[in-house]
Amino acid sequence: MEKWLVISAEDLSQFYEGRRLGDGKYVAYCPLCVSNSETLYITDGRIGTLIYCHSGCDKEDILKEHDIQLFQLFVNQKSKPKLPYDPTDDLIAVEIIRANRNEITSESDIAWAYSVKERLIAHNHWKPKL
Ligand SMILES: [Zn+2]
Repeated sequence: MEKWLVISAEDLSQFYEGRRLGDGKYVAYCPLCVSNSETLYITDGRIGTLIYCHSGCDKEDILKEHDIQLFQLFVNQKSKPKLPYDPTDDLIAVEIIRANRNEITSESDIAWAYSVKERLIAHNHWKPKL
């Protein structure tokens, strides 16, 4: 199996001048957003390093700003098969929501969290006790 050197949340956050929230958790200003709030979450996850702008920016575009490829955040990402609905992003979002529960307080953040949950339920990927 090919292994990639995974970029940690700490390393990745430095590209975006992230602010540390806790162990392996960072928040930063998204380089693609005009928003005045920190919308970019960078978190160490179970399957790799998670990056997510909850204003909806494409994470590959966010990474491209610093010449980083998505696969560099994951181990063996290349071997994943393509499915009609790929729950990966939403499952990553669930991890981010759970890891940053206390930071998700604004109406738009809560609406985002619910939309993720609804999509997972609709596709039978919702596992409340993951
Ligand atoms: Zn953004």
